[in-house]
Amino acid sequence: MSSAAAAAPIITEVVVIGAGPCGLFQVFELGLLGISAHVVDSLKHPGGQCAELYPDKPIYDIPALPVCGAQELVDRLLQQIKPFKPQLHLGHEVVEFNSRADGRFELATAGGVRFDAGAVVIAAGLGSFQPRRIGIEGAEAWEGAAIQYRVRNAAELAGRQLVIFGGGDSALDWTLELLPRAASLTLVHRRSEFRAAPASVARMRAQVAAGRMRCLEALPHSLIVADGALRGVNIRRPDGVIEPLRAEQLLVFFGLHPKLGPIAEWGLALEKRALRVDTEKFQTSVPGVFAVGDINTYPGKKKLILSGFHEAALAAFGIQHHLYPQKKQFLQYTTTSPVMHQRLGVPD
Ligand SMILES: Cc1cc2nc3c(=O)[nH]c(=O)nc-3n(C[C@H](O)[C@H](O)[C@H](O)COP(=O)(O)OP(=O)(O)OC[C@H]3O[C@@H](n4cnc5c(N)ncnc54)[C@H](O)[C@@H]3O)c2cc1C
Repeated sequence: MSSAAAAAPIITEVVVIGAGPCGLFQVFELGLLGISAHVVDSLKHPGGQCAELYPDKPIYDIPALPVCGAQELVDRLLQQIKPFKPQLHLGHEVVEFNSRADGRFELATAGGVRFDAGAVVIAAGLGSFQPRRIGIEGAEAWEGAAIQYRVRNAAELAGRQLVIFGGGDSALDWTLELLPRAASLTLVHRRSEFRAAPASVARMRAQVAAGRMRCLEALPHSLIVADGALRGVNIRRPDGVIEPLRAEQLLVFFGLHPKLGPIAEWGLALEKRALRVDTEKFQTSVPGVFAVGDINTYPGKKKLILSGFHEAALAAFGIQHHLYPQKKQFLQYTTTSPVMHQRLGVPD
């Protein structure tokens, strides 16, 4: 029995897949209607593309905010949804989705968290962010063991010969953290400049100057395997020279890229790798499953945060009707509605 099958499911009104700006705003719009949601994201932090791809860049087309940093927008959205106490499950990719005969939905993450939901909102953007792979022949056989894209257990790496690839914050942070306990450590980056925080780069260079580690400008070339074990990696220097490095463990931090992944397999109508929705309630081809933000498509769709916010507002009404078809729907203003004030925690 898989661990996904073993854990008891979390029973909820709605599961939102994706904690990007549109998934977060979906929580707000549902909350205004008195509907609670669990939000799942494969990234360890909320904010989707804004937080992962351009946190420091300014955005100029959010209504009433002439300029807003991308991470600032995420922080503001998190603040805005606070009254609705959303349950965020970060670092969990939703990999399984099933429609049940009773109209509810079962979802499971790769880590075995299960949900039993009355409705699902897919706000998965460009897809779930996956690590960029090392891309050398035969690497797949070692991935998850001698080649890792994230450190699951730093203690396991103590006393080992490590080669770390990358030039961003993850590569530098792990270099500095693992160095004191590693048998040896070499950092390999394709350029002499680093994207990581200058202070980390300076600390790393100080360790190199003190002879505690090496830092080389090169690309991965091929694996060195002997007697069924990974013994090292050949790297290609800028002058074309191939140099062997001894290593028991390769840690690769080439960043993340989005992949539609499992969502494409869930039997929902797709068009050009996006989920087809109506424009009344942004429902997919399966009743009870909605899609907002960059993941959806319809005539005239524009992949803008602003569009996703509008979609989330209408989807919330669609979800309310799906969950509670008998309930009379009417539009209330946040300015004047006592029940919305109560939900928002605003004193009347
Ligand atoms: C450099 C850059 C600049 C931009 N500037 C602007 C701008 O100025 N104005 C503007 O309006 N838009 C801008 N955009 C576009 C904007 O960022 C997107 O429209 C917006 O992020 C879409 O939000 P979203 O919530 O739909 O998806 P995303 O932000 O992509 O978030 C989706 C989330 O879903 C998660 N996810 C996906 N699949 C799964 C799964 N199976 N399980 C769990 N989690 C999953 C992902 O990890 C991700 O965190 C810009 C984009 C880029 C790259």
